[in-house]
Amino acid sequence: MKSKEYIEHTEQAVLHTYNRFPVVFEKGEGVYLKDVDGKEYLDFGAGIAVFALGYGNKEYEAALENQLKKVIHTSNLFYNVPLMEAAEKLRKASQMDKVFFTNSGTESIEGAIKTARKYAYLKDGRTDHEIIAMNHSFHGRSLGALSVTGNPHYQEAFKPLIGGVKFADFNDLESVKAQVTDRTCAIILEAVQGEGGIYPVTSEFLEGVRRICDEKDILLILDEVQCGMGRTGSYFAWQQYGVKPDIMACAKALGCGVPVGAFVLNEKTAKSSLVPGDHGTTYGGNPLACAAVSKVFDLFEELDLIGNVNKVTPYFEKKLDELVEKYDFLTARRGKGFMQGIVVTGRPVGEIVKSALDHGLVVLSAGSDVIRFVPPLVITEQDIDEMVERLEASF
Ligand SMILES: *Cc1c(COP(=O)(O)O)cnc(C)c1O
Repeated sequence: MKSKEYIEHTEQAVLHTYNRFPVVFEKGEGVYLKDVDGKEYLDFGAGIAVFALGYGNKEYEAALENQLKKVIHTSNLFYNVPLMEAAEKLRKASQMDKVFFTNSGTESIEGAIKTARKYAYLKDGRTDHEIIAMNHSFHGRSLGALSVTGNPHYQEAFKPLIGGVKFADFNDLESVKAQVTDRTCAIILEAVQGEGGIYPVTSEFLEGVRRICDEKDILLILDEVQCGMGRTGSYFAWQQYGVKPDIMACAKALGCGVPVGAFVLNEKTAKSSLVPGDHGTTYGGNPLACAAVSKVFDLFEELDLIGNVNKVTPYFEKKLDELVEKYDFLTARRGKGFMQGIVVTGRPVGEIVKSALDHGLVVLSAGSDVIRFVPPLVITEQDIDEMVERLEASF
């Protein structure tokens, strides 16, 4: 067991901010991961909804190698070709207008918040604008992103957070209306709440929030960091609702493992918000990250990954529904596309996740009681059968 030693050394050196499972992954191939002891795992976690392509995609690797040999970093003081390509492809996929590349989802949220505040500031010169965020949301761990994350447990020790944030209940339009004032500059939400426990937004709610935003010239920020990039059956989940955000945050599967995120603005917002000097990043949009993003978009089209999500989802949902039927401690399924959750009652979900690992299956948890399934977007019906087999064995 090589892993035991690696784990001990890691725990000595790395700050203990995660209760990691005792597995040291070394290598990936398709939808499988291998650990340093040679054990194989079927991966329905994809590095937390990141590795959409499946591991070992040759074209993806070649694109990165190719860029690696040219140049991996130049800074934003200059132009580079992958930046142009990645931005054009993200623009096309989102049908939005202007892109700012970041290094993570959290940073995309930071950029979105700053954009919204600047937009409102240019309108009325005030510096006391408010943002409405949702209970049980998750937007990241920096102070700005944490401030709009509706989870008091994550926030408590780090107060004071940024001011002017109010919380409403997800999928409860009246609770949003009750928080709107003449200082509200933005409403932020996930189209499918991820960390909070896999809750898809209702059409009625999203349309209602859009209507409030339109009436009062409030910006709608949609956090597509987890539910975006094809996972729910369209590039971005909001595209299935016919409701467009003013600002969208992405990351996770955007670079399929290379650390990159983006916030994307519509023309109205871009025209009247951030200008040179307002926002920046040394790494953001560097040629290596953008070569990854650019190739990811090509491969999404070539492999028709979104087509695969839509084709396989009914089977995936059927199989999960059967599990809920069969086991008393599984009480509900929720989700959209390849972002699914099963609610566990009367058994700690962490134990199920751990037992699944013992049986060669990676699944994640979400919220306090949900098994989360966010597989690579390349999975087939056979992969689902195998997942179900291993999960049942682990029960
Ligand atoms: C993961 C996540 C984030 C934070 O992204 P990081 O890359 O971890 O900074 C923000 N929003 C949502 C919805 C996420 O799932």
